[in-house]
Amino acid sequence: MPQGDGSLPDGSSDDRAISWGHVTAKEFEYLCKFLYSEWSRPPYELEHLIAVLRLSHMWDIKSGLDWAVYYLKERESEIRPALRLRLACKYDITDWVRPAVSALVTSPASELNKDDHQWLGWNAYELFVRVREEREKLRKTVGFIPPDIRFSIPAACTEDKHHVCIQTWVEKWTMGIGRQVCHPHPIFELPLALGLAEVKKLDLTGMTTECRLNAIELVEEAGAFFAEDRLVDEATVAFLKLPVDVDSVENIEQGLIKKGDRPAS
Ligand SMILES: [Zn+2]
Repeated sequence: MPQGDGSLPDGSSDDRAISWGHVTAKEFEYLCKFLYSEWSRPPYELEHLIAVLRLSHMWDIKSGLDWAVYYLKERESEIRPALRLRLACKYDITDWVRPAVSALVTSPASELNKDDHQWLGWNAYELFVRVREEREKLRKTVGFIPPDIRFSIPAACTEDKHHVCIQTWVEKWTMGIGRQVCHPHPIFELPLALGLAEVKKLDLTGMTTECRLNAIELVEEAGAFFAEDRLVDEATVAFLKLPVDVDSVENIEQGLIKKGDRPAS
Protein backbone atom coordinates (compact mmCIF):
# COMPACT_ATOMS: atom_id res chain seq x y z
CA MET A 1 0.00 0.00 0.00
CA PRO A 2 1.26 3.52 -0.66
CA GLN A 3 3.00 5.45 2.02
CA GLY A 4 1.88 8.94 2.93
CA ASP A 5 4.29 11.78 3.23
CA GLY A 6 4.93 11.12 6.94
CA SER A 7 6.69 8.25 8.67
CA LEU A 8 3.51 6.24 9.40
CA PRO A 9 2.03 4.12 6.62
CA ASP A 10 -1.36 4.89 5.16
CA GLY A 11 -4.06 2.95 6.94
CA SER A 12 -2.28 3.00 10.30
CA SER A 13 -4.84 5.37 11.85
CA ASP A 14 -7.96 7.35 11.01
CA ASP A 15 -5.73 10.33 10.30
CA ARG A 16 -3.66 8.28 7.87
CA ALA A 17 -6.54 6.59 6.06
CA ILE A 18 -5.78 4.82 2.80
CA SER A 19 -6.70 6.96 -0.19
CA TRP A 20 -9.12 4.96 -2.35
CA GLY A 21 -9.37 7.52 -5.07
CA HIS A 22 -12.15 6.34 -7.35
CA VAL A 23 -11.75 2.64 -6.78
CA THR A 24 -14.90 0.61 -7.18
CA ALA A 25 -15.74 -2.40 -5.06
CA LYS A 26 -15.56 -4.55 -8.18
CA GLU A 27 -12.09 -3.33 -9.08
CA PHE A 28 -10.86 -4.02 -5.56
CA GLU A 29 -12.44 -7.47 -5.69
CA TYR A 30 -10.53 -8.15 -8.93
CA LEU A 31 -7.27 -7.08 -7.33
CA CYS A 32 -7.87 -9.31 -4.29
CA LYS A 33 -8.69 -12.18 -6.62
CA PHE A 34 -5.31 -11.69 -8.27
CA LEU A 35 -3.45 -11.32 -4.97
CA TYR A 36 -5.09 -14.05 -2.90
CA SER A 37 -6.98 -16.54 -5.05
CA GLU A 38 -5.53 -19.79 -6.31
CA TRP A 39 -4.27 -19.77 -9.88
CA SER A 40 -7.03 -20.10 -12.43
CA ARG A 41 -6.73 -20.96 -16.05
CA PRO A 42 -6.72 -18.01 -18.52
CA PRO A 43 -8.29 -16.29 -20.39
CA TYR A 44 -9.21 -13.68 -17.81
CA GLU A 45 -11.95 -11.12 -18.30
CA LEU A 46 -10.74 -7.83 -19.75
CA GLU A 47 -12.41 -5.99 -16.87
CA HIS A 48 -10.38 -8.12 -14.47
CA LEU A 49 -7.10 -7.42 -16.25
CA ILE A 50 -7.72 -3.70 -16.58
CA ALA A 51 -8.77 -3.37 -12.95
CA VAL A 52 -5.58 -5.13 -11.79
CA LEU A 53 -3.54 -2.97 -14.15
CA ARG A 54 -5.06 0.24 -12.85
CA LEU A 55 -4.89 -0.54 -9.15
CA SER A 56 -1.43 -2.10 -9.40
CA HIS A 57 -0.25 1.05 -11.13
CA MET A 58 -1.93 3.24 -8.52
CA TRP A 59 -0.48 1.27 -5.60
CA ASP A 60 2.82 0.27 -7.19
CA ILE A 61 2.25 -3.51 -7.19
CA LYS A 62 4.81 -4.67 -9.75
CA SER A 63 3.65 -8.30 -9.91
CA GLY A 64 0.11 -7.07 -10.64
CA LEU A 65 1.31 -4.77 -13.40
CA ASP A 66 3.39 -7.50 -15.04
CA TRP A 67 0.57 -10.03 -14.80
CA ALA A 68 -2.05 -7.65 -16.22
CA VAL A 69 0.14 -6.46 -19.11
CA TYR A 70 1.12 -10.04 -19.99
CA TYR A 71 -2.46 -11.27 -20.24
CA LEU A 72 -3.76 -8.07 -21.82
CA LYS A 73 -1.23 -8.58 -24.60
CA GLU A 74 -2.56 -12.09 -25.12
CA ARG A 75 -6.00 -10.55 -25.76
CA GLU A 76 -4.70 -7.52 -27.65
CA SER A 77 -6.81 -8.12 -30.74
CA GLU A 78 -10.00 -8.02 -28.66
CA ILE A 79 -9.24 -4.58 -27.25
CA ARG A 80 -10.42 -1.64 -29.31
CA PRO A 81 -7.45 0.34 -30.71
CA ALA A 82 -8.55 3.55 -28.97
CA LEU A 83 -8.56 1.81 -25.59
CA ARG A 84 -5.25 0.10 -26.35
CA LEU A 85 -3.77 3.49 -27.11
CA ARG A 86 -5.15 4.99 -23.93
CA LEU A 87 -3.87 2.11 -21.81
CA ALA A 88 -0.53 2.19 -23.62
CA CYS A 89 -0.01 5.85 -22.76
CA LYS A 90 -1.25 5.69 -19.22
CA TYR A 91 0.60 2.53 -18.25
CA ASP A 92 3.69 2.74 -20.47
CA ILE A 93 2.87 -0.21 -22.72
CA THR A 94 5.07 1.31 -25.38
CA ASP A 95 4.86 -1.46 -27.97
CA TRP A 96 1.11 -0.91 -28.24
CA VAL A 97 1.33 2.69 -29.40
CA ARG A 98 2.25 2.39 -33.08
CA PRO A 99 0.00 -0.60 -33.93
CA ALA A 100 -2.93 1.17 -32.28
CA VAL A 101 -2.20 4.39 -34.18
CA SER A 102 -1.97 2.37 -37.39
CA ALA A 103 -5.34 0.73 -36.72
CA LEU A 104 -6.96 4.09 -35.96
CA VAL A 105 -5.55 5.71 -39.07
CA THR A 106 -6.57 2.89 -41.37
CA SER A 107 -10.09 2.19 -40.11
CA PRO A 108 -13.07 4.32 -41.19
CA ALA A 109 -14.12 7.11 -38.81
CA SER A 110 -17.62 5.62 -38.79
CA GLU A 111 -16.27 2.62 -36.88
CA LEU A 112 -15.39 4.78 -33.88
CA ASN A 113 -18.01 4.66 -31.15
CA LYS A 114 -18.71 6.92 -28.19
CA ASP A 115 -16.26 5.08 -25.96
CA ASP A 116 -13.50 5.45 -28.56
CA HIS A 117 -14.06 9.21 -28.64
CA GLN A 118 -13.73 9.33 -24.87
CA TRP A 119 -10.62 7.20 -24.79
CA LEU A 120 -8.95 9.24 -27.50
CA GLY A 121 -9.93 12.72 -26.37
CA TRP A 122 -10.58 15.52 -28.84
CA ASN A 123 -6.96 16.29 -29.80
CA ALA A 124 -6.12 12.72 -30.76
CA TYR A 125 -9.45 12.24 -32.53
CA GLU A 126 -8.86 15.35 -34.61
CA LEU A 127 -5.32 14.23 -35.42
CA PHE A 128 -6.44 10.80 -36.62
CA VAL A 129 -9.24 12.23 -38.77
CA ARG A 130 -6.68 14.46 -40.47
CA VAL A 131 -4.18 11.64 -40.98
CA ARG A 132 -6.94 9.37 -42.29
CA GLU A 133 -7.77 11.97 -44.95
CA GLU A 134 -4.11 12.18 -45.92
CA ARG A 135 -4.05 8.41 -46.17
CA GLU A 136 -7.06 8.41 -48.50
CA LYS A 137 -5.38 10.92 -50.79
CA LEU A 138 -2.17 8.92 -50.71
CA ARG A 139 -3.94 5.69 -51.66
CA LYS A 140 -5.78 7.34 -54.54
CA THR A 141 -2.52 8.78 -55.82
CA VAL A 142 -0.65 5.49 -55.50
CA GLY A 143 -3.56 3.50 -56.92
CA PHE A 144 -4.22 5.54 -60.02
CA ILE A 145 -0.98 7.31 -60.88
CA PRO A 146 1.70 4.76 -61.78
CA PRO A 147 5.32 5.89 -62.15
CA ASP A 148 5.63 7.76 -65.42
CA ILE A 149 7.49 5.77 -68.09
CA ARG A 150 6.75 8.15 -70.96
CA PHE A 151 10.26 9.55 -71.08
CA SER A 152 12.16 6.41 -70.15
CA ILE A 153 12.63 4.75 -73.52
CA PRO A 154 15.31 2.04 -73.44
CA ALA A 155 17.41 1.52 -76.56
CA ALA A 156 15.61 -1.76 -77.19
CA CYS A 157 12.20 -0.06 -77.43
CA THR A 158 11.10 2.17 -80.27
CA GLU A 159 8.79 5.16 -80.02
CA ASP A 160 5.98 3.19 -81.68
CA LYS A 161 6.41 0.22 -79.40
CA HIS A 162 6.74 2.49 -76.39
CA HIS A 163 3.32 3.94 -77.07
CA VAL A 164 1.92 0.44 -76.42
CA CYS A 165 4.19 0.06 -73.37
CA ILE A 166 2.75 3.23 -71.79
CA GLN A 167 -0.85 2.24 -72.54
CA THR A 168 -0.33 -1.27 -71.14
CA TRP A 169 1.47 -0.02 -68.04
CA VAL A 170 -1.23 2.51 -67.14
CA GLU A 171 -4.08 0.12 -67.87
CA LYS A 172 -2.64 -2.86 -65.99
CA TRP A 173 -1.62 -0.70 -63.05
CA THR A 174 -5.04 0.87 -62.76
CA MET A 175 -6.93 -2.41 -63.09
CA GLY A 176 -4.50 -4.51 -61.06
CA ILE A 177 -3.18 -2.13 -58.41
CA GLY A 178 -5.61 0.80 -58.34
CA ARG A 179 -8.67 -1.39 -57.87
CA GLN A 180 -7.09 -3.20 -54.94
CA VAL A 181 -5.51 -0.18 -53.27
CA CYS A 182 -8.70 1.87 -53.50
CA HIS A 183 -11.18 -0.90 -52.72
CA PRO A 184 -14.16 0.68 -50.93
CA HIS A 185 -14.21 -2.05 -48.26
CA PRO A 186 -11.28 -1.86 -45.83
CA ILE A 187 -11.13 -5.66 -45.48
CA PHE A 188 -10.29 -6.00 -49.18
CA GLU A 189 -7.90 -3.07 -49.39
CA LEU A 190 -4.44 -4.05 -50.52
CA PRO A 191 -1.93 -3.21 -47.77
CA LEU A 192 0.50 -0.84 -49.47
CA ALA A 193 3.41 -2.79 -48.03
CA LEU A 194 2.40 -5.65 -50.37
CA GLY A 195 2.09 -3.35 -53.38
CA LEU A 196 5.48 -3.97 -54.92
CA ALA A 197 4.92 -7.74 -54.88
CA GLU A 198 1.56 -7.20 -56.62
CA VAL A 199 3.18 -5.01 -59.27
CA LYS A 200 5.66 -7.80 -60.00
CA LYS A 201 2.73 -10.18 -60.53
CA LEU A 202 1.04 -7.93 -63.13
CA ASP A 203 0.68 -9.42 -66.58
CA LEU A 204 2.48 -6.75 -68.59
CA THR A 205 2.25 -8.53 -71.91
CA GLY A 206 2.46 -5.85 -74.57
CA MET A 207 5.39 -4.04 -73.00
CA THR A 208 8.91 -4.78 -74.14
CA THR A 209 11.01 -6.70 -71.62
CA GLU A 210 13.28 -3.71 -71.08
CA CYS A 211 10.35 -1.40 -70.40
CA ARG A 212 8.82 -3.91 -67.99
CA LEU A 213 12.04 -4.10 -66.00
CA ASN A 214 12.48 -0.36 -66.21
CA ALA A 215 8.93 0.30 -64.94
CA ILE A 216 9.36 -2.00 -61.95
CA GLU A 217 12.67 -0.36 -61.15
CA LEU A 218 10.92 3.01 -61.15
CA VAL A 219 8.34 1.67 -58.70
CA GLU A 220 11.10 0.50 -56.38
CA GLU A 221 12.91 3.83 -56.60
CA ALA A 222 9.78 5.89 -55.98
CA GLY A 223 9.06 3.98 -52.75
CA ALA A 224 5.42 5.06 -52.85
CA PHE A 225 4.32 1.79 -51.28
CA PHE A 226 6.22 2.73 -48.10
CA ALA A 227 4.51 6.11 -47.84
CA GLU A 228 1.72 4.74 -45.67
CA ASP A 229 4.22 3.41 -43.13
CA ARG A 230 5.84 6.82 -43.03
CA LEU A 231 2.44 8.42 -42.51
CA VAL A 232 1.76 6.13 -39.52
CA ASP A 233 5.24 6.89 -38.12
CA GLU A 234 4.56 10.61 -38.38
CA ALA A 235 1.10 10.21 -36.83
CA THR A 236 2.63 8.26 -33.92
CA VAL A 237 5.18 10.99 -33.28
CA ALA A 238 2.50 13.69 -33.53
CA PHE A 239 0.21 11.75 -31.19
CA LEU A 240 2.93 11.38 -28.56
CA LYS A 241 3.51 15.13 -28.66
CA LEU A 242 -0.13 15.98 -28.02
CA PRO A 243 -0.88 17.55 -24.66
CA VAL A 244 -2.48 15.02 -22.32
CA ASP A 245 -6.01 15.97 -21.37
CA VAL A 246 -5.84 14.70 -17.78
CA ASP A 247 -9.50 15.31 -17.00
CA SER A 248 -10.70 13.40 -20.01
CA VAL A 249 -8.58 10.31 -19.35
CA GLU A 250 -8.92 10.09 -15.59
CA ASN A 251 -10.64 6.87 -14.60
CA ILE A 252 -11.86 6.17 -18.10
CA GLU A 253 -11.01 2.52 -17.57
CA GLN A 254 -13.70 2.41 -14.95
CA GLY A 255 -16.19 2.66 -17.79
CA LEU A 256 -15.36 -0.97 -18.44
CA ILE A 257 -16.38 -2.00 -14.96
CA LYS A 258 -20.05 -2.79 -14.87
CA LYS A 259 -22.19 0.19 -14.11
CA GLY A 260 -23.79 0.11 -10.68
CA ASP A 261 -20.65 -0.92 -8.83
CA ARG A 262 -20.22 1.34 -5.92
CA PRO A 263 -16.89 2.86 -4.96
CA ALA A 264 -15.12 0.81 -2.28
CA SER A 265 -15.34 2.33 1.17
ZN1 LIG B 1 8.71 0.71 -74.20
